[in-house]
Amino acid sequence: MTDRQRIARLWRDYLWPQKGRLILAFFFMAIFAAATAGYVYLISLIIDAANALDDSGDAFAQARSYALIILPVILGLTLTAAIGGYIQRILTNSLALNTVGQMQTEMLQAAQRRDYADFAEEPTGNLIAKFTNDVSVVSASLVRVLGNLVKDVLTVIFSVIAMLVLNWQLSLFMVVFFLALWPIIEISKRLRGNAKDVQEHIGQITAELKESLGGTQLVKTYGLETHEQTRLNRSFDERIRLYLKLVTQQARVDPILEVVGGLAIAAVVIFGVWQYGTGAATGGQIAAVLGGLMILAPRLRALGTLNNAVQEGLSSVARIFEVIDTEPSLTDAADATELKVTDGQVFLSDIRFTYPDGTIALDGLTLTADPGKTTALVGPSGGGKSTIMHLIPRLYDVASGSVRIDKQDVRDVTQASLRRNIAVVSQEATLFNDTIAANIGLGDLNADREAIVHAAKAADAHGFIMALPEGYDTRLGEDGAGLSGGQKQRLSIARAILRDAPILLLDEATSALDTESEAKVQAALDRLSEGRTTLVIAHRLGTVRDADCIYVIDGGRVVESGTDAELRTVGGVYAGLSGTQN
Ligand code: ADP
Repeated sequence: MTDRQRIARLWRDYLWPQKGRLILAFFFMAIFAAATAGYVYLISLIIDAANALDDSGDAFAQARSYALIILPVILGLTLTAAIGGYIQRILTNSLALNTVGQMQTEMLQAAQRRDYADFAEEPTGNLIAKFTNDVSVVSASLVRVLGNLVKDVLTVIFSVIAMLVLNWQLSLFMVVFFLALWPIIEISKRLRGNAKDVQEHIGQITAELKESLGGTQLVKTYGLETHEQTRLNRSFDERIRLYLKLVTQQARVDPILEVVGGLAIAAVVIFGVWQYGTGAATGGQIAAVLGGLMILAPRLRALGTLNNAVQEGLSSVARIFEVIDTEPSLTDAADATELKVTDGQVFLSDIRFTYPDGTIALDGLTLTADPGKTTALVGPSGGGKSTIMHLIPRLYDVASGSVRIDKQDVRDVTQASLRRNIAVVSQEATLFNDTIAANIGLGDLNADREAIVHAAKAADAHGFIMALPEGYDTRLGEDGAGLSGGQKQRLSIARAILRDAPILLLDEATSALDTESEAKVQAALDRLSEGRTTLVIAHRLGTVRDADCIYVIDGGRVVESGTDAELRTVGGVYAGLSGTQN
């Protein structure tokens, strides 16, 4: 997409739908511009009306008749400019805020539709920076560009007209001087690349900060504070360097304009005095043209650097559109049906699967999880167990082979119906910054308090929840701080119980727990898995003794399967593993 197309899209999809507000904003900008241009006339009036006063009267009478001429004009112009400026400012800002609000909504929708694989690839901090930083850049640029393009351009046009009407020779003389400013715009065009560098770098810093502050435990326990500081300081320094470079280039414009402006003033004064001598100009006109110069200069200067604002805004817009336009590759088939779970049998048939980076994770794997039974996956790390758990809810698609639930291929059913029938309890309990009840309630958004309490009881969580000062309404901080690992686990088990799905995927977290909480979590898990087709990744063999079937997974394949007793008598890998663990 080119910048031109981005601007067209911004106009068509975001600004024009707010046309009422947009037109009103332009209208009040025009009013503001006209009133500002009126100052040019006001200046000539102030001086020429003073010169024209009858000097025969006393000073007080003189001042009064002067005030009667000047005051209504001053009041009229300033009030009009003030009101017009106030209303257009509010309208422009609300236009910009609505625009980025809509962008944020669309970004979030797109981000949630994203393939799971994309999340693994892009650091979360990058994505967050697009939601926060890029969005504020776009908002600020929009306010600036709309203001400059309409308000300032109109102010320039109206002021020049006012000046020409007052004294066209003098004004024309001055306009010629301003044409000398065009090269400035050319200089500013060079800035774009750097603004982009800065934006990208901010995304990177956000990602690094999130990593570093998020990994506090590791940083503290490994004593990595200095290392992290050095790493981040390098980033901060880089940011300073990039910003300085940008500012230096932008600042170059100002001194040039200053000098050109000074020359213009000198030229106008000299030419004006000559005209005054010949009687072609009044003192008021000379002052008005100089005043007009003062009104024009900041506007023209803003227009000269408008390109930066446009480019800065556009590179953020590009990044935002990129998020909005990311299409998931993993979608529902056109003729997808609803998954119908009758028994809840999960069947993986001759599966081959490769991660986007080329790692072969599964290589001809076949296994069955029988309805209502517990099937355990054991084996060395990197064998492919977690990958199996990703493929069942179709977070990834298999390269060949198929995943079937009650004989329906997961690619033939809707993702919504598939995932409705699956509950997941992973090693790390994911808890949101909300109340305990709300966290459990994520299992079934329609569940009432009674159902939530019931689920918590089944997960053996009711006791510790009630011991908290606000019970179910206790808010969990970030990551559920304050609860023990086992308690967090039991909350996520309660959530899965509430979900009441026929298929259950467990990644045992028991290795991180002490014996007592392990026993409690295990009991809760046993209750949860009762009557459901359960696939469990077992990190310790002690917990799989009772599994109905155990698969030993290694190198992306099943190397052994059977019950605990069967596998022990075979004397293969499992027997070897259980020998060392007992
Ligand atoms: P296990 O759960 O048995 O430890 P995994 O399913 O996590 O095994 O891993 C199987 C293989 O796939 C390993 O070689 C691992 O490095 C690789 N792998 C896992 N996740 C990813 C990923 N997101 N991207 C690339 N390779 C991955």
